[in-house]
Amino acid sequence: MAKTQSFADKSKKKAHVEICPVCSEAKQFIKYVKAVRTDSGSWKFRSISVGVCKCNNAEVYS
Ligand SMILES: [Zn+2]
Repeated sequence: MAKTQSFADKSKKKAHVEICPVCSEAKQFIKYVKAVRTDSGSWKFRSISVGVCKCNNAEVYS
């Protein structure tokens, strides 16, 4: 029985890796929930995927 594949390995495989051209760091993709105002004046939440690296890290996590 091969039980070598850990949960970490699985999530690593799933993750989309992209290198930032500015800082050359691998971007870490996180699900980011953003509240957006609709035309009718109500709020709805949109889940977006953002790549976080040194460049925008402070911005996203603030
Ligand atoms: Zn960057």
